Amino acid sequence: MKLVFATHNDNKLKEVKELLSNTFEIYSLNDIGFKNEIPENKNTIIENSKIKCKVVKYSTGYDCFADDTGLEVEILDGAPGVHSKRFAGLNASSDENIDKLLSLLKNKSNRNAQFKTVISLNIDGSIKTFEGICKGTISKKRLGKSGFGYDPIFIPNGSKISFGQMNLKEKNKIAHRSIAINKLVNYLTNLYQI
Ligand code: IMP
Repeated sequence: MKLVFATHNDNKLKEVKELLSNTFEIYSLNDIGFKNEIPENKNTIIENSKIKCKVVKYSTGYDCFADDTGLEVEILDGAPGVHSKRFAGLNASSDENIDKLLSLLKNKSNRNAQFKTVISLNIDGSIKTFEGICKGTISKKRLGKSGFGYDPIFIPNGSKISFGQMNLKEKNKIAHRSIAINKLVNYLTNLYQI
């Protein structure tokens, strides 16, 4: 089955292909020549996720799914959350976002946080959503260089190492995006009896 993953993010694409490649042929926005930036200006993760797959379906006609993810930090009342990408400014790099978060959490003992992903699927004229949450804590400094975004400072519960110290397979066993993707796979498998 052919599906477009509405992302320009190669790291996300790699993670998702690793989970879906057996049953589904996944095409990224680059693969189908869709170059436009999709606005992520909504107030919630779920709305941002939905707008991405609505725009892509409307502009290209392809059945597609999209992901939006945020890191929610307990002591910051859920920030950066929906603003995770631009936490340190409009064109902030992941390093700048991490620096800002580490400085806000300096000397804080409550370092609880969670990643939340919402996958939206736009298929047969309707949109379905699938959520994945991974709980953990924010480390005091960067640990490891794998993954992307906030991975080097996120230690999932039950683990002694950060996502930044895990390889893709290890991260995919427990991470927010894989939880949401597995729900998507179950849904599609039942729908199409594949
Ligand atoms: P978006 O879903 O692409 O809007 O991501 C929002 C922000 O969270 C960006 O800064 C990403 O780099 C970061 N992010 C998204 N997914 C992950 C992840 O799995 N690990 C670490 N950071 C992530």
